[in-house]
Amino acid sequence: MFIGHFGVGLASKKISQLPSLAVMFMAVQFLDLIWPLFVLTGLETFKIEEGITKLTPLNFTYYPYSHSLMMSIVWGLLFGLVYFAVTKQKWNSIFLGALVFSHWVLDFITHRPDLAISPFSDYKIGLGLWNYPVAEVLLEMGLFLLGVYLYYTTIKPKRKIAFWLLIGFLMVVHTMNLLGPPPPNIEAVAWSANLMWLIVLWAWWIERE
Ligand SMILES: [Zn+2]
Repeated sequence: MFIGHFGVGLASKKISQLPSLAVMFMAVQFLDLIWPLFVLTGLETFKIEEGITKLTPLNFTYYPYSHSLMMSIVWGLLFGLVYFAVTKQKWNSIFLGALVFSHWVLDFITHRPDLAISPFSDYKIGLGLWNYPVAEVLLEMGLFLLGVYLYYTTIKPKRKIAFWLLIGFLMVVHTMNLLGPPPPNIEAVAWSANLMWLIVLWAWWIERE
């Protein structure tokens, strides 16, 4: 799942306006922000295997530190604790922790059974919606468009062009992921995954006073 996570991040501004959109994006994508670092350092692995699911050619062979059920809860707790230490906002800290965990829930729906329960267990789960392209695309697009609508009507962003450029950019990247050729190698995937920080920066710019 890609833009579905961003849909949740956008929609979350309807519930709380105080954390900036950049922080919301960091929370909903936290597992995917640390994943490329773990891959590049050799801690986690994946392969490119055309046909492994109908929608994505990525075979997530080993990624329990970024994406296991247990570690998602740990990362959510840590994210919330750090936010609380900086801002002393109890409710927003709990909310951001839950947003970190929302990433795992959406991945659980879309990934085939490749999500480990914990780094200490080989038991893996996942509902595999990636093998049902129509349902997956509808769910993900629906989440994203709902998020765009809720964000736009709640925040009424001042930097409208920057906002719509970001929305367009996310949709283009998503469409290319779905329809483009499989990536050439795992290094290309891992390095380009770091570009997600650009999206975080972009979100920060949209809301900058
Ligand atoms: Zn993920």
